[in-house]
Amino acid sequence: MTARSYRPATLAVHAGQTRSQHGETAEALFLTSGFVYDSAAQAEATFLGTEQHYQYSRFGNPTVAMFEERLAALEGAEACRATATGMAAVASAMLAHLKAGDRVVASRALFGSCHWIVSTLLPKFGIETEFVDGSDLSAWRSALSRPAHAVLLETPSNPCLEIVDLRAVCDLAHAAGATVMVDNVFATPLLQRPLAFGADVVLYSATKHIDGQGRCLGGAVLSSKAWIEGTLQAFLRNTGPAISPFNAWVMLKGLETLSLRVAAMCRSAAQIADFLAGQPGITRVLYPGRADHPQHALAMSQMSAGGTIVSFELAGGKAAAFRLIDSLRLIRISNNLGDAKSIITHPATTTHLKIGAEERARLGISDGLVRLSVGLEDPADLEEDLAQALASAAVARAAE
Ligand SMILES: *Cc1c(COP(=O)(O)O)cnc(C)c1O
Repeated sequence: MTARSYRPATLAVHAGQTRSQHGETAEALFLTSGFVYDSAAQAEATFLGTEQHYQYSRFGNPTVAMFEERLAALEGAEACRATATGMAAVASAMLAHLKAGDRVVASRALFGSCHWIVSTLLPKFGIETEFVDGSDLSAWRSALSRPAHAVLLETPSNPCLEIVDLRAVCDLAHAAGATVMVDNVFATPLLQRPLAFGADVVLYSATKHIDGQGRCLGGAVLSSKAWIEGTLQAFLRNTGPAISPFNAWVMLKGLETLSLRVAAMCRSAAQIADFLAGQPGITRVLYPGRADHPQHALAMSQMSAGGTIVSFELAGGKAAAFRLIDSLRLIRISNNLGDAKSIITHPATTTHLKIGAEERARLGISDGLVRLSVGLEDPADLEEDLAQALASAAVARAAE
């Protein structure tokens, strides 16, 4: 029985583990930058590639390799490379794949730094880039009626939880000659496997659900063995966005509980989305798992649950959003997500401040919108916290 035949929760605990001569139960932490050779000839053979031996932790490390293999098994990918952050994964994948004169089509609703890479960094190197509304297939069709080299998209998107039709966009992209890269952070490998819908490269910020306890930064790129070894590997080795073995070890611990955590967070998020939808002063609840999400059917055809993030809009704009956020006692104000602790953020003044009002309007990020990352607390406590905050925010509004 190969590792690939086990179910995800089992793979998340066992896949990729190698043991040292001591036979340790848990994954060993190889906190070492270099590796010792038995002889000069072995060093030479290692550099020639005729012998398999670790050389230097910028190139590879046994703890990092366990994390990469476990994630690859979960994703159903042939190969994985871990990086220091999610942005190192996105930047490395794009820069390794593209060259001057190439063309990139991307969904507009991208994580802020991904948006910057497409709008600002790539054009500096003579790469043509075009944004489309990711939920509009006709926009993809028209942008991909001309040849392209890469497509970058995020689904569900941050913070409006828009869904991109993975299969349809992958088909259009492939016909245009493009490699499809999917930022799968919001869905996690447990809720959505983009490779199964035709994507070529899957990108993660492991900082989010994979660590899941808000401790370490990390990222990962998953794809075919041919693309990882032929396109990405030399870029990573020579530019150095390597993950620390310590962080990879923390991520391995995170993966062991990922399926439990994501399942619990999805259940709570669904419950809280329903609760919020019935509250006065809330004009819109965005949650892919709810039947009133404009792309609910599509979301459920490519994701196995609605996800761990709920976004919602308050009637009173920024003032109402700030009043609500400041009235919360349990849910903390932070721009991270996927954490065991529930976290709330006001995208217009934080994560999406720099993209400007015009682009925010295009993305549907109003001043009343807040994003809630649902954690592992008892959902009844989260509901009570939101209820008391909504009530005291309403009192504060009446007093103004
Ligand atoms: C956080 C995040 C990133 C960037 O990851 P870092 O680990 O912070 O570098 C990229 N995409 C999405 C969707 C994210 O949420």
